[in-house]
Amino acid sequence: MNSTKLDWINEEIGVLKESGLYNTIRTIDSPMDAWVKINGRPLLNFCANNYLGLANHPRIRQAAQAAIDQYGVGPGAVRTIAGTMTPHIALEERLANFKQAEACITFQSGFMANLATIPALVGRDDVIFSDELNHASIIDGCRLSRAQIVRYAHNDAQDLEKQINNVTDYRRRMIISDGVFSMDGDIAPLDKLADIAERHDIILMVDDAHGEGVLGHGGRGIVDHFGLHGRVDIEVGTMSKAFGVVGGMVAGRAAIVEWLRQRGRPFLFSSAMTVPDTAACLEAVNMLEESTELIDRLWSNAKSFRQGLEQMGFDTGRSETPIVPVMLGDAPLAQKFSQRLFEEGVFAMAIGFPTVPQGKARIRVMNSAAHTPQDIELALETFQEVGEELMVI
Ligand code: PMP
Repeated sequence: MNSTKLDWINEEIGVLKESGLYNTIRTIDSPMDAWVKINGRPLLNFCANNYLGLANHPRIRQAAQAAIDQYGVGPGAVRTIAGTMTPHIALEERLANFKQAEACITFQSGFMANLATIPALVGRDDVIFSDELNHASIIDGCRLSRAQIVRYAHNDAQDLEKQINNVTDYRRRMIISDGVFSMDGDIAPLDKLADIAERHDIILMVDDAHGEGVLGHGGRGIVDHFGLHGRVDIEVGTMSKAFGVVGGMVAGRAAIVEWLRQRGRPFLFSSAMTVPDTAACLEAVNMLEESTELIDRLWSNAKSFRQGLEQMGFDTGRSETPIVPVMLGDAPLAQKFSQRLFEEGVFAMAIGFPTVPQGKARIRVMNSAAHTPQDIELALETFQEVGEELMVI
Protein backbone atom coordinates (compact mmCIF):
# COMPACT_ATOMS: atom_id res chain seq x y z
CA MET A 1 0.00 0.00 0.00
CA ASN A 2 1.39 3.38 -0.93
CA SER A 3 0.23 5.56 1.92
CA THR A 4 1.72 8.98 2.62
CA LYS A 5 -0.26 9.89 5.71
CA LEU A 6 2.68 9.29 8.07
CA ASP A 7 5.47 10.70 5.90
CA TRP A 8 5.56 13.81 8.09
CA ILE A 9 6.97 11.74 10.94
CA ASN A 10 10.07 10.79 8.94
CA GLU A 11 10.47 14.40 7.88
CA GLU A 12 10.19 15.63 11.48
CA ILE A 13 12.65 12.97 12.70
CA GLY A 14 15.06 14.13 9.97
CA VAL A 15 14.77 17.70 11.24
CA LEU A 16 15.49 16.58 14.81
CA LYS A 17 18.58 14.67 13.68
CA GLU A 18 19.91 17.57 11.59
CA SER A 19 19.49 20.04 14.42
CA GLY A 20 21.14 17.84 17.06
CA LEU A 21 17.86 17.42 18.95
CA TYR A 22 17.18 13.74 18.30
CA ASN A 23 17.02 11.69 21.51
CA THR A 24 19.33 8.70 21.44
CA ILE A 25 17.89 6.38 24.04
CA ARG A 26 20.45 4.22 25.82
CA THR A 27 19.56 0.87 27.35
CA ILE A 28 20.95 0.25 30.84
CA ASP A 29 21.92 -3.35 31.36
CA SER A 30 22.66 -3.27 35.08
CA PRO A 31 21.10 -1.98 38.30
CA MET A 32 20.74 1.81 38.49
CA ASP A 33 23.77 2.95 40.48
CA ALA A 34 26.87 5.17 40.45
CA TRP A 35 28.18 2.99 37.64
CA VAL A 36 25.94 1.40 35.02
CA LYS A 37 26.53 -0.96 32.14
CA ILE A 38 25.61 0.04 28.59
CA ASN A 39 26.41 -2.28 25.65
CA GLY A 40 28.58 -4.30 28.00
CA ARG A 41 30.68 -1.26 29.01
CA PRO A 42 30.79 0.17 32.54
CA LEU A 43 30.05 3.91 32.61
CA LEU A 44 30.20 6.43 35.39
CA ASN A 45 26.60 7.56 35.72
CA PHE A 46 25.76 11.27 36.04
CA CYS A 47 22.33 11.06 34.41
CA ALA A 48 20.05 9.55 37.03
CA ASN A 49 17.82 11.31 39.55
CA ASN A 50 18.96 8.63 41.99
CA TYR A 51 20.13 11.34 44.40
CA LEU A 52 20.64 9.14 47.43
CA GLY A 53 21.63 5.93 45.67
CA LEU A 54 18.48 4.18 46.91
CA ALA A 55 17.39 2.73 43.54
CA ASN A 56 19.51 -0.35 44.14
CA HIS A 57 19.94 -0.13 47.91
CA PRO A 58 19.71 -3.49 49.75
CA ARG A 59 17.09 -2.18 52.21
CA ILE A 60 14.85 -0.87 49.42
CA ARG A 61 15.19 -4.11 47.45
CA GLN A 62 14.42 -6.13 50.57
CA ALA A 63 11.32 -4.05 51.36
CA ALA A 64 9.95 -4.58 47.84
CA GLN A 65 10.66 -8.32 48.00
CA ALA A 66 8.98 -8.70 51.40
CA ALA A 67 5.90 -6.82 50.13
CA ILE A 68 5.65 -9.16 47.14
CA ASP A 69 5.75 -12.15 49.49
CA GLN A 70 2.93 -10.69 51.56
CA TYR A 71 0.70 -9.00 48.96
CA GLY A 72 1.84 -10.02 45.47
CA VAL A 73 2.57 -7.41 42.85
CA GLY A 74 -0.31 -5.70 41.04
CA PRO A 75 -3.05 -3.77 42.81
CA GLY A 76 -5.64 -5.08 40.35
CA ALA A 77 -7.75 -1.92 40.37
CA VAL A 78 -7.87 1.82 40.65
CA ARG A 79 -7.63 3.22 44.16
CA THR A 80 -11.36 4.01 44.43
CA ILE A 81 -12.57 0.53 43.45
CA ALA A 82 -10.39 -2.15 45.04
CA GLY A 83 -6.84 -0.85 44.55
CA THR A 84 -6.33 0.74 47.97
CA MET A 85 -4.35 -1.72 50.06
CA THR A 86 -2.91 -1.40 53.54
CA PRO A 87 0.58 -0.38 52.29
CA HIS A 88 -0.92 2.56 50.32
CA ILE A 89 -2.55 3.98 53.43
CA ALA A 90 0.53 3.29 55.55
CA LEU A 91 2.72 5.19 53.06
CA GLU A 92 0.35 8.16 52.91
CA GLU A 93 0.21 8.42 56.69
CA ARG A 94 3.98 8.16 57.02
CA LEU A 95 4.59 10.76 54.31
CA ALA A 96 2.16 13.24 55.89
CA ASN A 97 3.94 12.79 59.19
CA PHE A 98 7.42 13.00 57.63
CA LYS A 99 6.54 16.23 55.87
CA GLN A 100 4.52 17.64 58.79
CA ALA A 101 1.58 18.12 56.45
CA GLU A 102 -2.10 17.77 57.36
CA ALA A 103 -2.54 14.89 54.90
CA CYS A 104 -1.01 13.12 51.92
CA ILE A 105 -2.26 11.22 48.88
CA THR A 106 -0.09 9.16 46.54
CA PHE A 107 -0.24 8.76 42.77
CA GLN A 108 1.46 6.51 40.25
CA SER A 109 4.04 9.18 39.42
CA GLY A 110 4.86 12.83 39.93
CA PHE A 111 3.55 13.54 36.44
CA MET A 112 0.22 11.98 37.41
CA ALA A 113 0.17 13.96 40.65
CA ASN A 114 0.31 17.20 38.66
CA LEU A 115 -2.27 16.02 36.13
CA ALA A 116 -4.56 15.05 39.01
CA THR A 117 -4.16 18.09 41.19
CA ILE A 118 -4.34 21.11 38.94
CA PRO A 119 -7.56 20.30 37.03
CA ALA A 120 -9.23 19.20 40.28
CA LEU A 121 -8.72 22.64 41.80
CA VAL A 122 -9.12 25.10 38.95
CA GLY A 123 -11.26 25.18 35.81
CA ARG A 124 -12.56 27.32 32.99
CA ASP A 125 -13.36 30.42 35.05
CA ASP A 126 -10.09 30.41 36.94
CA VAL A 127 -6.58 31.70 36.50
CA ILE A 128 -3.20 30.06 37.11
CA PHE A 129 0.01 32.03 37.60
CA SER A 130 2.80 29.72 36.46
CA ASP A 131 6.59 30.21 36.46
CA GLU A 132 7.77 30.36 32.85
CA LEU A 133 10.23 27.49 33.45
CA ASN A 134 7.80 25.10 35.13
CA HIS A 135 8.07 21.39 34.33
CA ALA A 136 6.14 19.87 31.41
CA SER A 137 3.82 17.99 33.76
CA ILE A 138 2.74 21.27 35.36
CA ILE A 139 2.21 22.82 31.94
CA ASP A 140 0.10 19.84 30.86
CA GLY A 141 -1.87 19.90 34.11
CA CYS A 142 -2.56 23.61 33.60
CA ARG A 143 -3.71 23.01 30.02
CA LEU A 144 -5.97 20.14 31.07
CA SER A 145 -7.64 22.38 33.62
CA ARG A 146 -8.78 24.85 30.90
CA ALA A 147 -8.02 27.70 33.28
CA GLN A 148 -6.42 30.89 31.95
CA ILE A 149 -2.63 30.48 32.22
CA VAL A 150 -0.54 33.54 33.02
CA ARG A 151 3.22 32.94 32.90
CA TYR A 152 5.43 35.05 35.12
CA ALA A 153 9.18 35.64 34.70
CA HIS A 154 11.29 32.88 36.18
CA ASN A 155 11.61 33.08 39.99
CA ASP A 156 10.53 36.74 39.81
CA ALA A 157 8.18 37.49 42.71
CA GLN A 158 7.78 41.11 41.60
CA ASP A 159 6.64 40.10 38.14
CA LEU A 160 4.29 37.54 39.70
CA GLU A 161 2.63 40.23 41.78
CA LYS A 162 2.39 42.50 38.75
CA GLN A 163 0.66 39.74 36.77
CA ILE A 164 -1.71 39.07 39.68
CA ASN A 165 -2.72 42.73 39.79
CA ASN A 166 -3.34 42.70 36.01
CA VAL A 167 -5.96 39.96 36.13
CA THR A 168 -9.18 41.11 37.71
CA ASP A 169 -11.77 38.75 36.23
CA TYR A 170 -11.62 35.30 37.82
CA ARG A 171 -13.39 32.83 40.09
CA ARG A 172 -10.42 31.11 41.75
CA ARG A 173 -6.67 31.73 41.48
CA MET A 174 -3.64 29.51 41.90
CA ILE A 175 0.14 30.09 41.89
CA ILE A 176 2.28 27.15 40.73
CA SER A 177 6.04 26.80 40.75
CA ASP A 178 8.63 24.08 40.56
CA GLY A 179 10.54 23.89 43.84
CA VAL A 180 13.91 23.00 42.35
CA PHE A 181 14.04 23.69 38.61
CA SER A 182 15.07 20.46 37.00
CA MET A 183 17.19 21.84 34.17
CA ASP A 184 18.99 24.65 36.04
CA GLY A 185 19.13 23.38 39.60
CA ASP A 186 17.99 26.68 41.09
CA ILE A 187 15.43 27.00 43.91
CA ALA A 188 12.10 28.87 43.76
CA PRO A 189 11.75 31.79 46.22
CA LEU A 190 8.93 29.95 47.97
CA ASP A 191 8.99 32.24 51.00
CA LYS A 192 8.21 35.21 48.75
CA LEU A 193 5.58 33.24 46.84
CA ALA A 194 3.92 32.32 50.15
CA ASP A 195 3.80 35.99 51.22
CA ILE A 196 2.20 36.95 47.91
CA ALA A 197 -0.26 34.04 48.02
CA GLU A 198 -1.36 35.04 51.51
CA ARG A 199 -1.60 38.73 50.67
CA HIS A 200 -3.92 38.00 47.73
CA ASP A 201 -5.61 34.87 49.18
CA ILE A 202 -4.45 32.65 46.31
CA ILE A 203 -3.97 28.85 46.39
CA LEU A 204 -0.23 28.07 46.38
CA MET A 205 1.21 24.89 44.88
CA VAL A 206 4.85 23.85 44.61
CA ASP A 207 6.19 20.83 42.70
CA ASP A 208 9.11 19.63 44.76
CA ALA A 209 10.10 16.64 42.61
CA HIS A 210 13.81 17.48 42.88
CA GLY A 211 13.67 18.75 46.45
CA GLU A 212 12.03 15.68 47.96
CA GLY A 213 14.73 13.77 49.86
CA VAL A 214 17.22 16.51 48.95
CA LEU A 215 16.17 19.84 50.53
CA GLY A 216 15.12 20.56 54.09
CA HIS A 217 16.00 18.75 57.30
CA GLY A 218 16.55 15.06 56.50
CA GLY A 219 15.18 15.58 52.97
CA ARG A 220 11.74 16.79 54.06
CA GLY A 221 11.56 19.03 51.02
CA ILE A 222 11.29 22.68 50.07
CA VAL A 223 8.54 23.64 52.53
CA ASP A 224 10.78 22.46 55.35
CA HIS A 225 13.81 24.13 53.72
CA PHE A 226 12.10 27.53 54.01
CA GLY A 227 10.27 26.73 57.28
CA LEU A 228 6.89 27.28 55.62
CA HIS A 229 4.92 24.49 57.28
CA GLY A 230 1.20 25.19 57.04
CA ARG A 231 1.67 28.06 54.57
CA VAL A 232 1.87 26.12 51.28
CA ASP A 233 -1.44 24.57 50.28
CA ILE A 234 -0.07 21.84 48.02
CA GLU A 235 3.35 20.23 47.87
CA VAL A 236 3.62 17.81 44.97
CA GLY A 237 6.47 15.34 45.15
CA THR A 238 7.86 12.32 43.44
CA MET A 239 9.29 9.08 44.73
CA SER A 240 11.10 8.36 41.47
CA LYS A 241 14.12 10.48 42.30
CA ALA A 242 15.69 10.63 45.79
CA PHE A 243 13.42 7.83 47.03
CA GLY A 244 14.83 5.60 44.29
CA VAL A 245 11.50 4.00 43.40
CA VAL A 246 8.54 5.42 41.45
CA GLY A 247 5.35 7.19 42.51
CA GLY A 248 3.95 10.64 43.14
CA MET A 249 2.52 12.39 46.17
CA VAL A 250 0.57 15.43 47.18
CA ALA A 251 1.07 16.64 50.73
CA GLY A 252 -0.78 19.59 52.16
CA ARG A 253 -4.19 20.69 53.33
CA ALA A 254 -6.51 17.87 54.43
CA ALA A 255 -9.41 19.38 52.46
CA ILE A 256 -7.41 19.30 49.24
CA VAL A 257 -6.27 15.71 49.78
CA GLU A 258 -9.85 14.64 50.48
CA TRP A 259 -10.98 16.41 47.30
CA LEU A 260 -8.29 14.65 45.26
CA ARG A 261 -9.56 11.29 46.51
CA GLN A 262 -12.93 12.26 44.99
CA ARG A 263 -11.87 14.21 41.93
CA GLY A 264 -8.23 13.49 41.03
CA ARG A 265 -8.72 11.75 37.69
CA PRO A 266 -5.54 9.59 37.67
CA PHE A 267 -6.56 8.44 41.19
CA LEU A 268 -10.04 7.52 39.95
CA PHE A 269 -9.21 6.14 36.51
CA SER A 270 -5.68 4.68 36.56
CA SER A 271 -4.59 1.71 38.65
CA ALA A 272 -2.86 2.20 41.98
CA MET A 273 0.89 2.13 42.60
CA THR A 274 2.12 -1.45 42.86
CA VAL A 275 2.54 -2.82 46.37
CA PRO A 276 6.31 -3.48 46.09
CA ASP A 277 6.82 0.12 44.92
CA THR A 278 4.70 1.37 47.80
CA ALA A 279 6.60 -0.69 50.36
CA ALA A 280 9.94 0.37 48.89
CA CYS A 281 8.91 4.04 49.22
CA LEU A 282 7.95 3.45 52.83
CA GLU A 283 11.41 2.00 53.49
CA ALA A 284 12.94 5.10 51.89
CA VAL A 285 11.03 7.23 54.43
CA ASN A 286 12.38 5.00 57.21
CA MET A 287 15.91 5.54 55.96
CA LEU A 288 15.49 9.30 55.67
CA GLU A 289 14.10 9.49 59.20
CA GLU A 290 16.95 7.42 60.62
CA SER A 291 19.93 9.33 59.26
CA THR A 292 21.02 12.32 57.19
CA GLU A 293 24.22 10.56 56.12
CA LEU A 294 23.19 10.04 52.48
CA ILE A 295 21.85 13.58 52.12
CA ASP A 296 25.03 15.02 53.60
CA ARG A 297 27.11 12.99 51.15
CA LEU A 298 24.93 14.08 48.22
CA TRP A 299 25.45 17.77 49.03
CA SER A 300 29.15 17.34 49.63
CA ASN A 301 29.54 15.50 46.29
CA ALA A 302 27.54 18.17 44.47
CA LYS A 303 29.68 20.93 45.98
CA SER A 304 32.93 19.22 44.94
CA PHE A 305 31.65 18.67 41.42
CA ARG A 306 30.33 22.20 40.94
CA GLN A 307 33.48 23.78 42.35
CA GLY A 308 35.68 21.52 40.22
CA LEU A 309 33.82 22.48 37.06
CA GLU A 310 33.89 26.18 37.89
CA GLN A 311 37.62 26.10 38.64
CA MET A 312 38.19 24.66 35.15
CA GLY A 313 36.22 27.55 33.67
CA PHE A 314 32.90 25.86 32.91
CA ASP A 315 29.69 27.86 33.30
CA THR A 316 27.35 26.06 35.73
CA GLY A 317 24.54 28.58 35.34
CA ARG A 318 22.28 29.19 38.33
CA SER A 319 22.81 25.84 40.04
CA GLU A 320 22.44 25.79 43.83
CA THR A 321 21.45 22.13 44.26
CA PRO A 322 22.84 18.71 43.21
CA ILE A 323 21.59 19.42 39.65
CA VAL A 324 24.57 21.04 37.91
CA PRO A 325 24.18 22.18 34.31
CA VAL A 326 27.25 22.75 32.16
CA MET A 327 26.07 25.50 29.86
CA LEU A 328 27.18 25.06 26.23
CA GLY A 329 24.63 27.06 24.22
CA ASP A 330 24.61 25.18 20.97
CA ALA A 331 22.58 21.94 20.78
CA PRO A 332 25.01 20.15 18.38
CA LEU A 333 27.93 21.11 20.65
CA ALA A 334 26.09 19.71 23.69
CA GLN A 335 25.37 16.48 21.76
CA LYS A 336 29.01 16.20 20.72
CA PHE A 337 30.16 16.89 24.28
CA SER A 338 27.90 14.19 25.68
CA GLN A 339 29.04 11.75 22.98
CA ARG A 340 32.73 12.35 23.75
CA LEU A 341 32.10 11.96 27.50
CA PHE A 342 30.34 8.71 26.73
CA GLU A 343 33.26 7.43 24.67
CA GLU A 344 35.55 8.29 27.59
CA GLY A 345 33.36 6.40 30.07
CA VAL A 346 31.17 9.15 31.57
CA PHE A 347 27.41 9.06 31.06
CA ALA A 348 26.01 12.62 31.25
CA MET A 349 23.08 13.78 29.19
CA ALA A 350 22.90 16.61 26.68
CA ILE A 351 19.68 18.59 27.05
CA GLY A 352 18.36 20.77 24.25
CA PHE A 353 15.20 22.40 22.96
CA PRO A 354 12.30 21.98 23.76
CA THR A 355 13.33 20.78 27.24
CA VAL A 356 15.34 24.01 27.61
CA PRO A 357 15.02 27.21 25.52
CA GLN A 358 16.77 27.47 22.10
CA GLY A 359 20.44 28.39 22.47
CA LYS A 360 20.57 27.16 26.08
CA ALA A 361 21.71 23.58 25.45
CA ARG A 362 23.75 22.00 28.18
CA ILE A 363 25.11 18.88 29.77
CA ARG A 364 23.14 18.18 32.91
CA VAL A 365 25.20 16.61 35.68
CA MET A 366 23.10 14.77 38.24
CA ASN A 367 25.05 14.20 41.42
CA SER A 368 24.36 11.31 43.77
CA ALA A 369 25.36 10.10 47.22
CA ALA A 370 26.29 6.86 45.44
CA HIS A 371 29.39 8.48 43.88
CA THR A 372 32.70 8.08 45.67
CA PRO A 373 35.31 10.87 45.79
CA GLN A 374 37.30 8.84 43.22
CA ASP A 375 34.25 8.77 40.90
CA ILE A 376 33.99 12.54 41.10
CA GLU A 377 37.68 13.04 40.46
CA LEU A 378 37.56 10.75 37.44
CA ALA A 379 34.49 12.52 36.02
CA LEU A 380 36.07 15.95 36.50
CA GLU A 381 39.21 14.83 34.68
CA THR A 382 37.07 13.63 31.79
CA PHE A 383 35.11 16.90 31.66
CA GLN A 384 38.41 18.79 31.51
CA GLU A 385 39.74 16.60 28.71
CA VAL A 386 36.59 16.90 26.60
CA GLY A 387 36.14 20.60 27.42
CA GLU A 388 39.65 21.38 26.17
CA GLU A 389 39.28 19.17 23.10
CA LEU A 390 36.03 20.91 22.11
CA MET A 391 37.45 24.31 23.05
CA VAL A 392 34.77 25.06 25.64
CA ILE A 393 37.40 25.88 28.29
N1 PMP B 1 7.85 17.45 38.22
C1 PMP B 1 9.14 17.77 38.01
C2 PMP B 1 9.62 19.13 38.36
C3 PMP B 1 10.01 16.80 37.48
O1 PMP B 1 11.29 17.11 37.24
C4 PMP B 1 9.52 15.52 37.18
C5 PMP B 1 10.40 14.42 36.63
N2 PMP B 1 11.10 14.68 35.51
C6 PMP B 1 8.18 15.26 37.40
C7 PMP B 1 7.37 16.23 37.94
C8 PMP B 1 7.60 13.93 37.07
O2 PMP B 1 7.91 13.01 38.07
P1 PMP B 1 7.75 11.46 37.79
O3 PMP B 1 9.01 11.00 37.14
O4 PMP B 1 7.55 10.88 39.14
O5 PMP B 1 6.58 11.31 36.90
